[in-house]
Amino acid sequence: MALLVLGSVAFDDVRTPSGYRERVLGGSATYFAWAASTLVQTDLIAAVGRDFPAEFTEMLRGRKIGLDGLVKMADIDTFHWSGRYGEDLNVAQTNWVKINVLGKWKPVVPPKWRNHPFVFLANDAPQNQLAALDQMVKPRLVLCDTRDLWIDQDRAGLEVVMKRTDGIVLNDGEARQLTKERNLIRAASKLHDLGSRIAIIKKGEHGAFLSVEGKGFALPAYPVAEVVDPTGAGDSFAGGLMGYLARRGETDFRALKRAMLAGTITASFCVEDFSLDRLRSLDVAAFDRRMGEFEQFLSL
Ligand code: AMP
Repeated sequence: MALLVLGSVAFDDVRTPSGYRERVLGGSATYFAWAASTLVQTDLIAAVGRDFPAEFTEMLRGRKIGLDGLVKMADIDTFHWSGRYGEDLNVAQTNWVKINVLGKWKPVVPPKWRNHPFVFLANDAPQNQLAALDQMVKPRLVLCDTRDLWIDQDRAGLEVVMKRTDGIVLNDGEARQLTKERNLIRAASKLHDLGSRIAIIKKGEHGAFLSVEGKGFALPAYPVAEVVDPTGAGDSFAGGLMGYLARRGETDFRALKRAMLAGTITASFCVEDFSLDRLRSLDVAAFDRRMGEFEQFLSL
């Protein structure tokens, strides 16, 4: 079934203990769409600026990613994020953010995409997430994501997003910041109180936790020997998860648990290189092989 994502398409400057990359292709919607399109057609709603190179657009065009909702704004630059990771690769530190197009853009969902049953509102200003959601006709499952910047700048908007969607996918730091709860079980319960029936909390190399109306499930991360760049791990986790659900057309608890597995495997590839470099060379055979290894790893 068709899948729609709204989010950022960005330039990233990233420093990790493995090296430094400048103005590489990043963005929440980019990672999500790239990951999900391994499994299902994924249609992208995002804006880029006048400085966005044709080469990056061509890269996206080569995938099962619908680009009719990718707008190029003539009078402003692309969203640009600069971040770094220290020895603790689970924590991204933001050096600076240039919001650029994200602050000016009014998302428009092409009419042919408004009936898509599966929707992911990736990291973006809550107002942009709501504007896209307003144009959708009765989607079956809508999950959202957010980040420190939006929790700080527009908590009220984010709370509306949470009430109007089925669930939220966050990392542990964001869950703590949003709920002010240190304990993640309590944090999940607060997320339910805020309107998210489904709460998924990612814990970097320690895996991910799912809570659906009080029913819980947890998975460790796939053990990656060398994490080169964790950027996009969360978005590609969400892309694998939603891609799995949309491909099967399922949304129940059992499907969500299997989808967590697909998300975990997708994220494990993402972190093995900078930007989208590892995901670019990922094929279904490598994905299936790792899925099999992970199932072995989990078995008692
Ligand atoms: P993550 O999966 O959390 O590592 O997401 C990293 C991606 O999110 C990077 O490629 C950034 O370009 C993008 N990003 C960082 N900050 C924001 C923000 N405030 N809004 C939207 N996207 C962001």
